[in-house]
Amino acid sequence: MSHEGQHSQPDRQFSAHTLAVAGARPHGQPNAPVNHPVTFTSTFHSQAVATSDDRVYARFSNPSWDGFEGLLGQLEKAALPALVFSSGMAAIAAALSLVPRGGTLVLPRHSYNGSLSLVAELENAGVLRARPVDIADTAATLEALASADALWLESPTNPMLEVADLRAILRATAQRGVLSLVDNTFATPLLQQPLEYGADVVVHSVTKTLSGHSDVILGAVVTSDTALHEQLHGYRTLHGAIASPMDVFLALRGMRTLSVRLERAQNNAGQLARKLAAHPAVADVRYPGLPEDPGHERAAAQMSGFGSVIAFAAGQSASDADRVIAALELITPATSLGGVETLAERRARHASEPPSVPQNLIRLAVGIEDVEDLWWDLAQALAVLEG
Ligand SMILES: *Cc1c(COP(=O)(O)O)cnc(C)c1O
Repeated sequence: MSHEGQHSQPDRQFSAHTLAVAGARPHGQPNAPVNHPVTFTSTFHSQAVATSDDRVYARFSNPSWDGFEGLLGQLEKAALPALVFSSGMAAIAAALSLVPRGGTLVLPRHSYNGSLSLVAELENAGVLRARPVDIADTAATLEALASADALWLESPTNPMLEVADLRAILRATAQRGVLSLVDNTFATPLLQQPLEYGADVVVHSVTKTLSGHSDVILGAVVTSDTALHEQLHGYRTLHGAIASPMDVFLALRGMRTLSVRLERAQNNAGQLARKLAAHPAVADVRYPGLPEDPGHERAAAQMSGFGSVIAFAAGQSASDADRVIAALELITPATSLGGVETLAERRARHASEPPSVPQNLIRLAVGIEDVEDLWWDLAQALAVLEG
């Protein structure tokens, strides 16, 4: 079901940075509000004769979702509006429901740990077979895809920041008829648009950079394929993981500043990554923006920026990393990423994290504070490891 707003078609194809600000506004009617309205209702007046456009009931569709869904679809260069879900995991569950029953799913061995846990649960239930790969190893990934039914892709990966060759891998899945599902949370559509490389479905944790203020849990799925869109919409309606109108309002409000937040955060991340790489108590800084990073050239070829997340090894052990995090004064020790405030977390504290994630790896989700204040905080916290 599509409920288009009153956009008059402009004579120019605006950039994504402009669309994030100007898209999905109810222009064109006298006295129209500047912002997409929020509608709190559970049901809608019915027509005597039902039409395919009837909203019927607010689990099926809600006018509060239309602006957000239209805008995210446009930013991802999709032919259809996005579908918003109550969380990133709800969106991921919907996307994984598309994997053929009993099929083999290739996925990065390092991915968001919620996705890994859900795939493990589906495998235990006999729904699919998981085939983890080093997604930065293109030859190994293509080989794994040869006899697979679906691909789950993350790039850069959470939390190891590995970069996959999106063009090569998505060309292969398209040629072989392998369903491709891409989690684009880390990059956002401003840095990378997987549908353009042939992905079937893009998934977002809208909780993170898209909404940007650590005040909502929300997810979304995007596709240009009408049949997949219908299946995903049907899944959302029946499984019922729908978004609150207020949360979607907050997400769309956050997306208005996506371009400036991301620009500032990734500029900060680039500077902090360089300083961390030169620090004696730090090893193994992972950030695709560093020229020496193994994913640098690939990221430069397929992304228009390197993002706002860094991972680095602090000292020698889990307790070294914990001591650094405990000594932070400005940066908040917390999970999550993509908010305006900088967060730090030792990822291996989660039992669900793969054992190959180093115990002393800190994921730094860089925000938009003054970079000199952020570096002051990191340097004074790392000083606990000296002497
Ligand atoms: C946080 C996150 C998710 C899960 O999203 P929620 O909104 O927390 O349900 C999925 N993928 C990635 C890459 C994430 O960072």
